[in-house]
This record gives sequence, C-alpha cells and structure tokens, in this order.
Amino acid sequence: MESHPWQTAPIVGISRHRLATDGEGVTTLVVFHGCPLQCKYCLNPHTLSPETVQPIYDTELLYEEVKIDELYFLATCGGVTFGGGEPCLRSEFIREFRQLCGEAWNLTVETSLNIPRQHLETLLPIINHYIVDIKDMNPDIYRKYTGRNNDQSINNLKWLAKQGMAKHITVRIPHIPHFNTQEDIDRSVEQLKEMGFSRFNIFTYRTY
Ligand code: SF4
Repeated sequence: MESHPWQTAPIVGISRHRLATDGEGVTTLVVFHGCPLQCKYCLNPHTLSPETVQPIYDTELLYEEVKIDELYFLATCGGVTFGGGEPCLRSEFIREFRQLCGEAWNLTVETSLNIPRQHLETLLPIINHYIVDIKDMNPDIYRKYTGRNNDQSINNLKWLAKQGMAKHITVRIPHIPHFNTQEDIDRSVEQLKEMGFSRFNIFTYRTY
C-alpha cells in the first residue's frame, strides 16, 4: 500500500530504557530531524544539519522497533517520548503512531511549541505529557538565543492551559550562559505561575 507523506518521517535516533529523564517510567526517546529554531547552544545539532544521515521511518516500522519494550512501558506507566528537532511538526505521524500503539502507552513530546497551532490541535487528544522548553519568556532574550520570536510559543502555551492541560506540562526554564540571568529565570517562573503552570525544570545549559 502506498504511504502518505505524513506516515513517514526522518528519525535520527532511538534511545531505549531511559528512566526519569524525559517522561514517566521507562521511556524510549525517538528523535526527529528538523527544527524551526536556531538555538546558539543547540543540544542536538545533528537534528538540524542537512548532512546528518536521516533514516526514513514509517509509523509501522517505528512501532515494530519500539514495541520490544512494551512490557516495561506497561509496568512503569512509561512509553515513547518524541523529541528532536521539533517533534510537534510531525503531528500526523504521531497521531498515526498512536493508532498503532493503542491507549496504554504514555506518549510525551519535548517541544519548543514554536509551531503552527494546527499541530497542537492534532496532538491534544493523543499526547499524555508535554515537556516545553520555553527558553526564556523575555522576547528579546528568546530572539537573541533562537533567532525567532516567542509569540507563537507563548500563545500555544496559553492555549494548552485553556484546554486544561497545565498539570500535564513540565516547563523547562534553562539558565542560558551569556543570554539570561537568575533574575530573568525568576521573572519567567512568575509569569508562568500566573498562567497556571506549576511543574518546572530549571537547569543550566552546558556550553562547549
Ligand atoms: S529547539 Fe532544540 S533542536 Fe531546535 S535548535 Fe533549539 S536546541 Fe536545537
């Protein structure tokens, strides 16, 4: 049968048996190629480079590969975390994957939310948890660090909160050396609390 374009995606890494790093329980991290941002200290530069070998997966192939850990997923309330790159741009692929894996797996996305709303609308009924790397809430800091505006990210975050998803979202607020300070981070946390969020992951980016 012929595949639709959304049933295939370039996947540059699959990492099994992760515990407490990106989601509940035992997780398998699936790393998509491609991201709309250009972070100065990109954590996964191989997801941006056009030279990276980009194996193309369809949803069935990915499901066959990751289901080897199904017993771990079910025993620990774990599942698959989609990262990148920007996984939310692959919303149709993830929706198709959900149909294959069923309801029992916990599906998480690690995202900047700097994506068109339509992708979130697709993902809303099928994603259990969002890990949102908001960088910094200050638009100037965000622009200097990523090369993009953060309006879309913040509007999407507000929209998710309005859909009752705040308790299913962990917001990452990194200290970004040379770009933000502890005071900036405190300001971001305050703003996010006012928006209804309470799960934060504050840490420092390593620069090399
Ligand atoms: S959002 Fe992530 S993958 Fe994209 S440029 Fe920034 S660090 Fe790299």
